[in-house]
Formats: sequence, structure tokens, C-alpha cells
Amino acid sequence: MPRPTLSKRAAELLAVLARTYPDAHCELDFTNPLELLMATILSAQCTDVRVNQVTRRLFVRCRTAADYASIPQEELEALVQPTGFFRAKARHLKQCASTLLELHAGEVPRSLEALTKLPGVGRKTANVVLGDAFGTPEGVVVDTHVQRLSRRLGLSKHSTPEKIELDLMRLVPREHWARLSHWLIWHGRRRCDARKPDCAHCELAALCPSAGEGASGIGRKATVKRSAPATRQRQTQAKTG
Ligand code: SF4
Repeated sequence: MPRPTLSKRAAELLAVLARTYPDAHCELDFTNPLELLMATILSAQCTDVRVNQVTRRLFVRCRTAADYASIPQEELEALVQPTGFFRAKARHLKQCASTLLELHAGEVPRSLEALTKLPGVGRKTANVVLGDAFGTPEGVVVDTHVQRLSRRLGLSKHSTPEKIELDLMRLVPREHWARLSHWLIWHGRRRCDARKPDCAHCELAALCPSAGEGASGIGRKATVKRSAPATRQRQTQAKTG
């Protein structure tokens, strides 16, 4: 039997993912675009569970962009400390809020171009906000799960988020861009673990070119051993985006 084309297989994958995860959604807690923006900045190199623990208190203390701009740096650092890279993240939150006040009357802008000009905000964060707070994604959020799953599922041969995003945008209709990320993230967390993918019970196995014993070697980030000074240096520079 001839193999289905990539676009046909992608459509079948989407259908199975939609059936498997009908409730897939952003696992960061938020009630408005500003909260999602700040939570997403904090989520760099941190779990959503940890971020939600932190924002439960943070969002009581800071409700508006003006609150973030005026809160003392030390107080903000203490609040966000459990998310790691807390000095840089606190600085980004304050700078981001100040820019929102200066350029957008304290409101979160609704375009990728304006969002990515905010301090601490890269394309990934901007697309999270556009997709989940406004329902108008301008791209696909490619995090570590989406990166790995795209490779394993044969949706992209590339390894950089930028190129993977372009492949996904070409393959998947725009109306599914926001949900596609959630589907892949949920599948990555629940079934297709980086080190131990559960291919034997995977709902996508029949459509996945990586199904089987070799899957764990595909799409994983290379582990880089860091020296102590390099690790310390990283503490001063949160990777956001
Ligand atoms: S079959 Fe295996 S490698 Fe493919 S998506 Fe499922 S768990 Fe991941």
C-alpha cells in the first residue's frame, strides 16, 4: 500500500490528537492577557506547575502594568524566586510593564510585531499570548515538546524552533495553530516522554514513523555538561522567549 503523503498524514494526526485531547489547553493559570504574558515570561526554564504556584501570589500583588513597574525590584525578585533566573525575570517583568505603559497605555498589544518588541518577549511568548489570550495566533508555539514531537512524528526534519515552526505552519491550517501546540505538548507530557516514549500504548503509533525502540533517540535536545562558572553565569541571564 502506498504511504500517505505528509499533508494527509498530518491531517490524520490532527484528527487523532483532537480525539485524544479534546480539552487540551494552556496549562498556565491566567485570567487576562497581562497575566498570561507575565506567566509566560516566568515559564522560561521552569515548569507550568511551579509558575502557577508563584503567580497565585504574584497576581494578587500585581494586577496592572503600573503595579509591575512600581513594585520594588527586591520584592518582585522574592516573589518570582522559585521560578529560577529570578533576577533577570524580575527585571524583564518590570521593563516589559514599563514599555507597556509607555507605548500601549498599559495594555498588552495584539500583534506579533509589537509583542516581540517588549523586553523579555520572544516569538514563542508572543505566540502563546496571541493564541491563548486573544485567539489570533500568528505562528505555532514551538517549545521543547513540540520540537521533539515534530521530529518523531516526521512533521519536520529540522532541529531549530524557527524552521520547525515554518514546517508546521505550512502543514497545518491556521485555525489549528494554537491547539496544535497544546496537543503536542500534552502528548509529549503524557505519552511521548523525551527519554521513555510509551510507543506500545501510543494513540499515534500507526501514524508515527518513529514508533518503536529507537524513538527515544529522536528529537531530544543534546545534553550539554556545564562547568560551575558557566552555570553561575547563566543565573544572571534568563533565557526567555
Ligand atoms: S509512537 Fe512513540 S515516538 Fe511516536 S508519538 Fe507515540 S510515543 Fe512518540
